[in-house]
Amino acid sequence: MEVILQVKLRSPNPIKHTANVFLNRFNIYFLLHLLSMIIFIIIYYFLCKRVIVLDKKHKKISHINLSKENIVEIIELLKSKYPDATCSLDFNSPFELGIAVMLSAQCTDERVNKTTPSIFKKYNKPKDFVDLDIKIIEDLIHPCGFYKTKAKNIKAYSKKIMDEYNGSLPMTMDELITLPGIGRKSANVIMLEAFNNPIGIAVDTHAKRISNRLGLSNNSDPSKIEQDLLQIIPKKYYKDVNHLLVWHGRNICIARGPKCTECPISKYCTYYLNS
Ligand code: SF4
Repeated sequence: MEVILQVKLRSPNPIKHTANVFLNRFNIYFLLHLLSMIIFIIIYYFLCKRVIVLDKKHKKISHINLSKENIVEIIELLKSKYPDATCSLDFNSPFELGIAVMLSAQCTDERVNKTTPSIFKKYNKPKDFVDLDIKIIEDLIHPCGFYKTKAKNIKAYSKKIMDEYNGSLPMTMDELITLPGIGRKSANVIMLEAFNNPIGIAVDTHAKRISNRLGLSNNSDPSKIEQDLLQIIPKKYYKDVNHLLVWHGRNICIARGPKCTECPISKYCTYYLNS
């Protein structure tokens, strides 16, 4: 009896034995597999987190595709919001507008409008400025800032109009942008406001900011932004867009702390939908 018991105690349980062999052989593979999965998940988590942090830091936003119908809806909503949107510079002739636009660089339209009436009352023809001493022009436009550069441009602008265009402002974009002090943005404003013939979109600081935020353009160069806008905005809306972007930029989509909760076009805005 004692012998039988000893034999029973020494002989291994076959099921337990098989399980042990199986586990010894495969456990190591299983553990390695599990470990690699855990390492993979940890690395993936930190990589994703880093990408999100980078995106927030650089305000990189994924863009939403807007259809032409969406663009028209955006314009119509802005038209309802700003029914009185017009050019806010005062002028009596295309020539005067050219000077007002030059003075508005790095200056508010309000200040320009306070400065120009007394100037234009006395000097309003190209010849007036050609004959005028540069120091006098500098004094006249001093409140608008950058008066030395602006005075030089006004004199050269007037001289070129006298010499090459018989005293009248040319009426094409190609000619306007050859005038001293008149870039593409200013030429677009003149084409629209003075000749009622918008052929482009003036991309100023407001148009640039709103185009980027809405997701209408990824570019930072105004001329490239303009090309992006011209591709998606129907020509009949050029006039409206020129005014609406400026008004929206001044009132709601301001540079710092845009008032998105008051914005009528927030549902189309990449910036808002990503924030
Ligand atoms: S939702 Fe905000 S960021 Fe977008 S256009 Fe409106 S104000 Fe600007």
